Amino acid sequence: MSGLILIVEDEADLLATLEYNLEREGYRTRTATTGQAALDAVLVEPLPDLVLLDLMLPDISGTEVCRKLRADDRTREIPVVMATAKGEEIDRVVGFEVGADDYVTKPFSVRELILRIRAILRRARNPVEERDEATFGRLRIDEPAHKIWVDDEEIRLTALEFRLLTTFHARRGRVQTRERLLSDVWGYQAEVTTRTVDTHVKRLREKLGDAGQYIETVRGVGYRFRARPDETTA
Ligand code: CA
Repeated sequence: MSGLILIVEDEADLLATLEYNLEREGYRTRTATTGQAALDAVLVEPLPDLVLLDLMLPDISGTEVCRKLRADDRTREIPVVMATAKGEEIDRVVGFEVGADDYVTKPFSVRELILRIRAILRRARNPVEERDEATFGRLRIDEPAHKIWVDDEEIRLTALEFRLLTTFHARRGRVQTRERLLSDVWGYQAEVTTRTVDTHVKRLREKLGDAGQYIETVRGVGYRFRARPDETTA
């Protein structure tokens, strides 16, 4: 299933490349070359299914555009993938402050971008996967029974580790900041710090053995559960 993607990019060559490749993949596209144009274009019916947003724009920054999209009821739910220059503000971009769903670092591979877009759109269309049992590569999760297996060997997890794993799995392909995980998995207990997240992720990875590689560390930001089991680290 395709979708409508709003591409916000002020570099003409890159914009043309993205437009060409996304359309070749069956997506419809709409383009904007400034932040203000993006805010206008996003409200044109039909609303886009996803916004690909450059961070550095000539007028309003991509982070500001993203914040505005998140603050408006009409656009709050539209997934945003941010294109950033290397290492630039990534923690803010995917954190609470800005709220992008994912990011790619320039120069990015168009193929990787398309895989991420596809994964995000698939999840956006199926927000609740009401399947009792899920498999992801070598991992099998039975959520109602609170059981997991790696290669048919049952792995014993604590309730917290189980919640951490299912949270990762439900948001696969998306970067999760430590703060976000703290809030969603731990519920922000006062005594818990972001170091706690690292400790628990480390232990969870150890217990998962080879399947632990599905949880990737995003330096300076947090973690990302792969979108696909065979995904190679960028
Ligand atoms: Ca730019």
